[in-house]
Amino acid sequence: MDIATDRKCPHCGEILLPWEGPPETGWGIILVCNNNQCPHFSCSNETVAQYQPESKLGFRYAEDPVNNYASFNLAAYCGATFMDLAKQNQ
Ligand SMILES: [Zn+2]
Repeated sequence: MDIATDRKCPHCGEILLPWEGPPETGWGIILVCNNNQCPHFSCSNETVAQYQPESKLGFRYAEDPVNNYASFNLAAYCGATFMDLAKQNQ
């Protein structure tokens, strides 16, 4: 199966990169926005933190090629990325 390599994140315009999901998810190859400055990703932890203040999880924008490039939220650990950077800037 050919996977498009010119798909772009609608939130930040970065090219989506192919990523092989964990075997147990059955996803196969999905396309993910890996931009840590992506507004979709950087705002997602605020949403999660409303319910779980200690949570280091956020959501990256992702598309599933086998499902006609339907978009979904991919849970991602973000504690070592922008959250630490934000702390340094305080
Ligand atoms: Zn993005």
